[in-house]
Amino acid sequence: MIIILKQNADKNKVENLKENLKELGFSLHESRGENTEIIGLVGDTSKVSENDLRAIDIIENVRRIQEPYKKANRKMHPKDTVIDICGHKIGAGHFQVIAGPCSVESEEQMNEVARRVKLSGAMLLRGGAFKPRTSPYSFQGLHNKGLDLLLKAGKSNNMPIVTEIMDTAHIELFENVDVIQVGARNMQNFELLKKLGKLNKPILLKRGLANTLDELLMSAEYIMAGGNENVILCERGIRTYENAYRNTLDISAIPMLRKLTHLPIVVDPSHAAGMRFMVEPLAMAAIAAGADGLMIEVHNNPEKALCDGAQSLTPEMFDSLMVKIKGAVEFFGKKID
Ligand code: PEP
Ligand code: MN
Repeated sequence: MIIILKQNADKNKVENLKENLKELGFSLHESRGENTEIIGLVGDTSKVSENDLRAIDIIENVRRIQEPYKKANRKMHPKDTVIDICGHKIGAGHFQVIAGPCSVESEEQMNEVARRVKLSGAMLLRGGAFKPRTSPYSFQGLHNKGLDLLLKAGKSNNMPIVTEIMDTAHIELFENVDVIQVGARNMQNFELLKKLGKLNKPILLKRGLANTLDELLMSAEYIMAGGNENVILCERGIRTYENAYRNTLDISAIPMLRKLTHLPIVVDPSHAAGMRFMVEPLAMAAIAAGADGLMIEVHNNPEKALCDGAQSLTPEMFDSLMVKIKGAVEFFGKKID
């Protein structure tokens, strides 16, 4: 981190600042130009806030050289991380497809969707039991009963399950869930992230509607700092000025995250698009851009779905998409196992 001092900064205050920085454990690299003095901080600056430093009246500006996330940073961990989900690997060339309905609605729906997506080649089963809905009057999910139905459908089809948690109070209910999803709206629910950091199971962390990649990686860092390094990132579209579709899929995030972090990257084209006709091209784009997996909403009767029917594929559509996904994954030198 580099601190640029104001011209004619009070000498006593400068000395004071330097003493304080040394007390924090930094060695200082000082350089004095004709008009400006610059202090380079050598040491772990992840605990230092740029804004707190900027608030000091003798400081003109502060620039961070090293990213504030460490465990998620590729510089600290050059090799891609591979996460094992009940024998199915994701990352470093291993690709996974997570499919299922937006929300668990009934035993019949869950079993039918699970059976069909499994037949088409999806390895992991999704379904929301606790739903983060914009309106409190919309279907909120079947809660405990939904979790039970998802667990049963997963078990009878031999598929690990992925489902969203919204409240720290529910952690115990998720004991048998294979991958816990943190939805876009909870990406910065730091108390939830800290608690998930104490678990020993993979966390699928979705990018917030209006969050930067740095913020996403800092949220991953919250989970990893607690000891749980099994974090899978998920790009699911962000809010932009464009309103022709539900969100704008940030394809650029994939190669950039690949550069910044070693964590696996999944793309959710369903929530990005909001409309089923866009799911296939966005899924293909995600594979081409280097994603390690896809999360796709599938419903046996999308017109009657209690949540996100417009973006849900029918099992037939998903089946023909899976043929293309398998071809594209192979073309890009990855494998679904
Ligand atoms: C979901 O996956 O069902 C969901 C609610 O997604 P997001 O948090 O990305 O909106
Ligand atoms: Mn949904």
